[in-house]
Amino acid sequence: MLRDLKRRLFTHVWKALDLANGDSVHFKELIFSFFPHVVGVHEWEAGTKFSELFEIAPTTTIGRGFRMFRFTTVTDCPHDVLDENAADPLEADDLALQQLLGLVSKTTFLNDIIKVKGKCATSALEAYHSARLRYAPKRKFFTKKGAKIKSMLAILHWNTIQMAELDGNRRVMIQYQSYSKPRGEHRIITRKSTVEHPWKRIIVTRAMEQKRRYGPGVPIFADEDGEEMDIDVSIEDLFADSDTEVSSESESPSLLDD
Ligand SMILES: [Zn+2]
Repeated sequence: MLRDLKRRLFTHVWKALDLANGDSVHFKELIFSFFPHVVGVHEWEAGTKFSELFEIAPTTTIGRGFRMFRFTTVTDCPHDVLDENAADPLEADDLALQQLLGLVSKTTFLNDIIKVKGKCATSALEAYHSARLRYAPKRKFFTKKGAKIKSMLAILHWNTIQMAELDGNRRVMIQYQSYSKPRGEHRIITRKSTVEHPWKRIIVTRAMEQKRRYGPGVPIFADEDGEEMDIDVSIEDLFADSDTEVSSESESPSLLDD
Protein backbone atom coordinates (compact mmCIF):
# COMPACT_ATOMS: atom_id res chain seq x y z
CA MET A 1 0.00 0.00 0.00
CA LEU A 2 2.77 2.43 0.96
CA ARG A 3 4.73 1.35 -2.08
CA ASP A 4 1.69 1.89 -4.22
CA LEU A 5 1.25 5.41 -2.88
CA LYS A 6 4.91 6.17 -3.41
CA ARG A 7 4.58 5.19 -7.02
CA ARG A 8 1.60 7.51 -7.38
CA LEU A 9 3.60 10.25 -5.70
CA PHE A 10 6.46 9.81 -8.19
CA THR A 11 4.15 10.29 -11.12
CA HIS A 12 2.94 13.39 -9.35
CA VAL A 13 6.52 14.63 -8.76
CA TRP A 14 7.31 14.33 -12.45
CA LYS A 15 4.27 16.38 -13.33
CA ALA A 16 5.12 18.93 -10.66
CA LEU A 17 8.70 19.29 -11.91
CA ASP A 18 7.33 20.06 -15.31
CA LEU A 19 4.67 22.49 -14.10
CA ALA A 20 6.79 24.33 -11.55
CA ASN A 21 9.26 25.34 -14.22
CA GLY A 22 12.06 25.89 -11.74
CA ASP A 23 10.00 27.80 -9.15
CA SER A 24 10.75 26.06 -5.86
CA VAL A 25 7.82 27.49 -3.85
CA HIS A 26 5.41 26.50 -6.56
CA PHE A 27 7.06 23.12 -6.77
CA LYS A 28 6.76 22.41 -3.05
CA GLU A 29 3.09 23.38 -3.04
CA LEU A 30 2.43 21.18 -6.06
CA ILE A 31 4.07 18.24 -4.31
CA PHE A 32 1.97 18.62 -1.19
CA SER A 33 -1.23 19.05 -3.22
CA PHE A 34 -0.85 15.29 -3.67
CA PHE A 35 -2.20 14.69 -0.16
CA PRO A 36 -5.51 16.60 -0.33
CA HIS A 37 -5.95 15.15 -3.81
CA VAL A 38 -5.63 11.56 -2.58
CA VAL A 39 -8.31 12.15 0.04
CA GLY A 40 -10.62 13.75 -2.51
CA VAL A 41 -10.02 17.50 -2.01
CA HIS A 42 -9.14 19.10 -5.32
CA GLU A 43 -9.69 22.82 -4.77
CA TRP A 44 -9.15 25.32 -1.95
CA GLU A 45 -8.65 29.01 -1.21
CA ALA A 46 -5.26 30.67 -1.48
CA GLY A 47 -3.66 30.83 1.97
CA THR A 48 -5.25 27.60 3.23
CA LYS A 49 -3.10 25.66 5.61
CA PHE A 50 -2.16 22.17 4.54
CA SER A 51 -3.41 20.83 7.89
CA GLU A 52 -6.88 22.27 7.20
CA LEU A 53 -7.12 20.22 4.00
CA PHE A 54 -5.48 17.08 5.22
CA GLU A 55 -5.75 15.94 8.80
CA ILE A 56 -2.31 15.11 10.14
CA ALA A 57 -2.70 12.18 12.52
CA PRO A 58 -1.34 12.82 16.02
CA THR A 59 0.89 9.76 15.59
CA THR A 60 2.50 11.08 12.42
CA THR A 61 5.83 12.79 12.99
CA ILE A 62 6.13 15.55 10.46
CA GLY A 63 9.09 17.68 9.57
CA ARG A 64 9.94 20.72 11.66
CA GLY A 65 7.82 23.73 10.75
CA PHE A 66 5.64 21.72 8.43
CA ARG A 67 2.55 22.31 10.55
CA MET A 68 2.65 25.96 9.41
CA PHE A 69 2.85 25.06 5.73
CA ARG A 70 0.14 26.72 3.63
CA PHE A 71 -0.75 26.91 -0.04
CA THR A 72 -0.07 30.39 -1.45
CA THR A 73 0.13 29.84 -5.19
CA VAL A 74 -1.43 26.43 -5.74
CA THR A 75 -5.17 26.39 -5.12
CA ASP A 76 -6.21 23.29 -6.99
CA CYS A 77 -4.93 20.01 -8.39
CA PRO A 78 -2.98 20.00 -11.64
CA HIS A 79 -5.46 17.63 -13.29
CA ASP A 80 -8.61 18.08 -15.33
CA VAL A 81 -11.97 16.73 -14.23
CA LEU A 82 -11.45 13.27 -12.77
CA ASP A 83 -12.78 10.44 -14.89
CA GLU A 84 -14.04 7.05 -13.78
CA ASN A 85 -10.49 5.63 -13.98
CA ALA A 86 -9.31 7.83 -11.15
CA ALA A 87 -8.45 6.03 -7.92
CA ASP A 88 -11.05 6.19 -5.16
CA PRO A 89 -10.28 8.74 -2.46
CA LEU A 90 -8.60 7.38 0.66
CA GLU A 91 -9.38 8.25 4.26
CA ALA A 92 -6.92 10.77 5.66
CA ASP A 93 -6.16 8.50 8.61
CA ASP A 94 -4.94 5.78 6.22
CA LEU A 95 -1.76 4.49 7.81
CA ALA A 96 0.29 4.31 4.61
CA LEU A 97 -0.76 7.81 3.64
CA GLN A 98 0.21 9.22 7.03
CA GLN A 99 3.53 7.37 6.83
CA LEU A 100 4.20 8.87 3.42
CA LEU A 101 3.46 12.35 4.70
CA GLY A 102 5.92 11.74 7.52
CA LEU A 103 8.58 10.76 4.99
CA VAL A 104 7.96 13.52 2.48
CA SER A 105 7.60 16.32 5.00
CA LYS A 106 10.76 15.42 6.84
CA THR A 107 13.36 13.65 4.70
CA THR A 108 15.88 15.48 2.60
CA PHE A 109 13.85 14.43 -0.43
CA LEU A 110 12.17 17.79 -1.04
CA ASN A 111 14.77 20.06 0.46
CA ASP A 112 17.36 18.56 -1.84
CA ILE A 113 15.31 19.30 -4.89
CA ILE A 114 14.45 22.76 -3.68
CA LYS A 115 18.05 23.61 -2.83
CA VAL A 116 18.97 23.12 -6.43
CA LYS A 117 18.79 26.74 -7.37
CA GLY A 118 15.99 27.41 -9.79
CA LYS A 119 16.72 24.43 -11.98
CA CYS A 120 14.98 21.64 -10.14
CA ALA A 121 13.43 20.11 -13.23
CA THR A 122 16.74 19.95 -15.05
CA SER A 123 18.43 18.30 -12.11
CA ALA A 124 16.08 15.33 -11.81
CA LEU A 125 16.01 14.97 -15.55
CA GLU A 126 19.80 15.14 -15.76
CA ALA A 127 20.01 12.40 -13.16
CA TYR A 128 17.73 10.23 -15.27
CA HIS A 129 19.68 10.88 -18.46
CA SER A 130 22.95 10.15 -16.74
CA ALA A 131 21.51 6.81 -15.58
CA ARG A 132 20.20 6.11 -19.05
CA LEU A 133 23.58 6.75 -20.66
CA ARG A 134 25.07 4.03 -18.52
CA TYR A 135 22.53 1.51 -19.75
CA ALA A 136 22.49 2.71 -23.35
CA PRO A 137 25.76 4.48 -24.22
CA LYS A 138 25.46 6.99 -27.02
CA ARG A 139 28.28 5.46 -29.06
CA LYS A 140 26.55 2.14 -29.47
CA PHE A 141 23.74 1.35 -31.83
CA PHE A 142 20.74 -0.42 -30.39
CA THR A 143 17.76 -1.89 -32.18
CA LYS A 144 14.40 -0.40 -31.30
CA LYS A 145 13.75 -3.28 -28.96
CA GLY A 146 17.20 -3.04 -27.37
CA ALA A 147 16.83 0.70 -26.84
CA LYS A 148 13.43 0.18 -25.28
CA ILE A 149 14.66 -2.47 -22.85
CA LYS A 150 17.65 -0.36 -21.90
CA SER A 151 15.43 2.64 -21.24
CA MET A 152 13.26 0.45 -19.04
CA LEU A 153 16.32 -0.61 -17.04
CA ALA A 154 17.36 3.02 -16.63
CA ILE A 155 13.88 3.85 -15.35
CA LEU A 156 14.05 1.02 -12.81
CA HIS A 157 17.42 2.38 -11.75
CA TRP A 158 16.15 5.93 -11.36
CA ASN A 159 13.01 4.86 -9.49
CA THR A 160 15.04 2.71 -7.09
CA ILE A 161 17.18 5.71 -6.21
CA GLN A 162 14.15 7.93 -5.73
CA MET A 163 12.55 5.29 -3.49
CA ALA A 164 15.71 5.19 -1.37
CA GLU A 165 15.71 8.97 -1.24
CA LEU A 166 12.12 8.99 -0.10
CA ASP A 167 12.85 6.35 2.53
CA GLY A 168 15.64 8.56 3.85
CA ASN A 169 18.24 5.91 3.02
CA ARG A 170 20.73 8.11 1.25
CA ARG A 171 23.45 9.82 3.21
CA VAL A 172 25.54 12.71 1.95
CA MET A 173 29.04 11.26 1.68
CA ILE A 174 30.94 14.24 0.37
CA GLN A 175 30.33 17.75 -0.83
CA TYR A 176 32.75 19.76 -2.89
CA GLN A 177 32.87 22.84 -5.02
CA SER A 178 33.34 22.47 -8.72
CA TYR A 179 33.49 24.89 -11.59
CA SER A 180 30.89 24.27 -14.27
CA LYS A 181 32.09 25.48 -17.64
CA PRO A 182 28.70 25.53 -19.40
CA ARG A 183 27.12 27.42 -16.50
CA GLY A 184 30.14 29.63 -15.92
CA GLU A 185 29.91 29.37 -12.15
CA HIS A 186 31.04 27.40 -9.13
CA ARG A 187 28.57 24.86 -7.87
CA ILE A 188 28.39 22.65 -4.84
CA ILE A 189 28.42 19.02 -5.91
CA THR A 190 26.93 16.52 -3.49
CA ARG A 191 27.85 12.87 -3.64
CA LYS A 192 25.56 10.48 -1.86
CA SER A 193 25.85 6.92 -0.72
CA THR A 194 25.00 4.32 -3.32
CA VAL A 195 21.79 2.41 -3.43
CA GLU A 196 21.37 -1.33 -3.77
CA HIS A 197 19.56 -2.48 -6.89
CA PRO A 198 18.18 -5.93 -5.99
CA TRP A 199 16.00 -5.95 -9.12
CA LYS A 200 19.12 -6.47 -11.24
CA ARG A 201 19.86 -9.84 -9.69
CA ILE A 202 16.22 -10.87 -10.09
CA ILE A 203 16.30 -10.04 -13.80
CA VAL A 204 19.60 -11.82 -14.39
CA THR A 205 18.46 -14.92 -12.49
CA ARG A 206 15.21 -15.09 -14.42
CA ALA A 207 17.01 -14.57 -17.72
CA MET A 208 19.41 -17.40 -16.92
CA GLU A 209 16.54 -19.69 -15.94
CA GLN A 210 14.82 -18.88 -19.20
CA LYS A 211 17.99 -19.57 -21.19
CA ARG A 212 18.52 -22.90 -19.43
CA ARG A 213 14.97 -23.92 -20.29
CA TYR A 214 15.46 -22.81 -23.88
CA GLY A 215 18.75 -24.58 -24.48
CA PRO A 216 21.48 -23.59 -26.97
CA GLY A 217 20.94 -21.23 -29.88
CA VAL A 218 19.44 -17.80 -30.24
CA PRO A 219 15.96 -17.64 -28.74
CA ILE A 220 13.15 -17.00 -31.16
CA PHE A 221 10.55 -14.69 -29.75
CA ALA A 222 6.97 -15.46 -30.58
CA ASP A 223 6.32 -11.86 -31.45
CA GLU A 224 8.97 -10.77 -33.87
CA ASP A 225 8.32 -7.06 -33.72
CA GLY A 226 9.02 -7.19 -30.01
CA GLU A 227 6.20 -4.95 -28.94
CA GLU A 228 5.11 -7.40 -26.30
CA MET A 229 7.21 -9.90 -24.49
CA ASP A 230 6.14 -12.64 -22.22
CA ILE A 231 8.05 -11.78 -19.10
CA ASP A 232 6.61 -13.57 -16.12
CA VAL A 233 7.86 -11.07 -13.62
CA SER A 234 5.82 -8.16 -12.42
CA ILE A 235 7.05 -4.76 -11.35
CA GLU A 236 5.82 -5.65 -7.86
CA ASP A 237 8.24 -8.58 -7.78
CA LEU A 238 11.15 -6.44 -8.85
CA PHE A 239 10.58 -3.99 -6.06
CA ALA A 240 9.56 -6.58 -3.50
CA ASP A 241 12.85 -6.57 -1.60
CA SER A 242 14.12 -3.22 -2.67
CA ASP A 243 14.19 -1.84 0.83
CA THR A 244 17.46 -0.38 -0.08
CA GLU A 245 20.63 -0.66 1.86
CA VAL A 246 23.30 1.92 1.94
CA SER A 247 26.91 1.23 1.12
CA SER A 248 29.86 3.53 1.11
CA GLU A 249 30.69 4.06 -2.56
CA SER A 250 29.09 6.96 -4.32
CA GLU A 251 28.66 6.46 -7.99
CA SER A 252 24.94 6.48 -8.56
CA PRO A 253 23.23 9.57 -9.87
CA SER A 254 21.24 11.47 -7.32
CA LEU A 255 19.02 14.47 -7.70
CA LEU A 256 21.98 16.59 -6.81
CA ASP A 257 24.59 14.89 -8.92
CA ASP A 258 25.94 16.80 -11.83
ZN1 LIG B 1 -7.14 16.27 -7.41
